[in-house]
Amino acid sequence: MKWPIVEESTILSVRKTKIEYLNRTTELMIDLNKCTSCYQCVKACPKDALVKPEIPKGKKVPRKERVPIFPEPLKCVFCGVCLTLCPFDAIFMKLDGDVLNRDNLPLRVGNKIPEIEKVKMKKVILKDEKSDFHNEFWDHIMERIQVK
Ligand code: SF4
Ligand code: SF4
Repeated sequence: MKWPIVEESTILSVRKTKIEYLNRTTELMIDLNKCTSCYQCVKACPKDALVKPEIPKGKKVPRKERVPIFPEPLKCVFCGVCLTLCPFDAIFMKLDGDVLNRDNLPLRVGNKIPEIEKVKMKKVILKDEKSDFHNEFWDHIMERIQVK
């Protein structure tokens, strides 16, 4: 039995979390220079794998003073929703050392990635859901992140 190895670090301006399990390595990185702490990814993540720092109740913290998000590696299913949605291109992921971005996400089909119509709290609704769009990777991910 091999347990996942989790590494968390902040190197220069990147907050990084890395998980190794069997022969797979996944990494999620937040570019602290780009992240504006808008917390949209926190609302969108279907697995609660991104957390924002606690702000005392009633206290307003201006966005430029906010602390960036923290990824929780053991909760992340590597769906790519946060990366797709981040308005500031501040999230990066690697799968087995290969950088994934909007142009080469595994859920991409040809030149197309599923279009996200809207994100309700923790639920992602795809624009293509009712069309004949089909992608096994995405189907699998959607099964894993299904909100009950
Ligand atoms: S959506 Fe992007 S900019 Fe906003 S908190 Fe998340 S990583 Fe930072
Ligand atoms: S890849 Fe998916 S599960 Fe992981 S942090 Fe991003 S939205 Fe959450």
